[in-house]
Amino acid sequence: MTTATLVEPTGFHALSLCQPVLSAIANAGYKKPSSIQKAFIPRVLTGVDVMGQAQTGTGKTAAYLIPYFERWQDSNHQEPTALVLVPTRELAIQVCDEAVKLCPNKDLHVLPIYGGRPMDGQIRGLRKGVDLVVGTPGRLLDHLGRGTLMLHKVKYLVLDEADRMFDLGFRDDIRRILKNCPEDRQTLLLSATMPPDILNLAKRYMRRPIIHLQMSPKQVTIDKIRQSYFTVDKHNKFELLLKLIEREQPRQCIIFCERKIGAHRIYEQLCGERKRVATMHGDLEQSKRERIMQAFKEGKIVYLVATDVVGRGIDVMNISHIINFDLPMDPENYVHRIGRTGRMGKDGVAISFVTPEEGSELTRIEDFINKMIPEDRFEDFQAYEKRVKNPDEPREVKPIFGRRSKRYSQRL
Ligand code: AMP
Repeated sequence: MTTATLVEPTGFHALSLCQPVLSAIANAGYKKPSSIQKAFIPRVLTGVDVMGQAQTGTGKTAAYLIPYFERWQDSNHQEPTALVLVPTRELAIQVCDEAVKLCPNKDLHVLPIYGGRPMDGQIRGLRKGVDLVVGTPGRLLDHLGRGTLMLHKVKYLVLDEADRMFDLGFRDDIRRILKNCPEDRQTLLLSATMPPDILNLAKRYMRRPIIHLQMSPKQVTIDKIRQSYFTVDKHNKFELLLKLIEREQPRQCIIFCERKIGAHRIYEQLCGERKRVATMHGDLEQSKRERIMQAFKEGKIVYLVATDVVGRGIDVMNISHIINFDLPMDPENYVHRIGRTGRMGKDGVAISFVTPEEGSELTRIEDFINKMIPEDRFEDFQAYEKRVKNPDEPREVKPIFGRRSKRYSQRL
């Protein structure tokens, strides 16, 4: 007698997936596919190369994992048939967690491969036989160099957060890794943004026809996130942070700083004021980063002071607030940062601290997301000093870029 698990029909049934995959999705608790999943899964299942503009929080990981499980669940369990390339260790762990959650067949082996961890354990895992490898470029190249990893059976290749991999300088590493994969494979590319570099990468390494699923910049910023900014002098930022925390009472919040040293300082200051504070930046040991991430996921940490490098990999559903203590240098990073909240359609709040000198940076962000961000302020707290111009000083004529700079120059 064969026993079949009865699965209640979910929105995923319309995607013509097999029963074991549907059961795994139901066990993961997913009731209906997200927009990217609806768009991605049927196209990927036809076997063509697909590139999609999607950021974390949209369900993009399941969008590329589900077709793999649908098509390759009878892999050889020896050499990897799928490789997912990711920019950071945290993302590698997250993708693996998602893969384990959605895996329809317990014989399928998923292995994360990233730096900051001993090679031995990874080599043992590879020797046992692996189907799906999720890895960061540097460590993958290490294994390729030692001959402990072979990619000649890879049929399904995913470049996840491709723009971020370029930002982190992995361009040549990616090329070297791709040379080790068979040409006869399906390639998927996901990126929150599609600058010319990424389009060139696609042209070079993807087969025609490439289906390009593009969202407008407006859709890139998740609409459910309530965004605002405060004008604040640098030396008042910490006081503003405390007032904001008091007012907003975040469930969980990430406070983004531009530099490690800044993140550490804010962390130490905040520890003196609040409980359940932690920091995540590139200088921390990998095992510590993982412990902090786990505690954050479990809700034991409320305030996480982070830099962008680690901020990207954070997938915690309960984050209610993003505070940009420092504005990101790059407008694309703004989108990545605020994408940590408002996940899977939940509401979120993103608040940015802007010094009076940073008006044009804010304008660049607004242009990029195609939206004006409203200003917020405390009636009882003057966060910045009005600049008083000396009327005798010769006027310096500066070009004014964009709306915000105009607004700033009028007010200050
Ligand atoms: P991602 O955009 O891949 O980082 O996914 C964001 C979060 O949404 C992850 O925690 C996933 O487990 C979750 N998720 C993905 N797809 C669905 C879905 N269809 N329904 C509910 N949650 C989902």
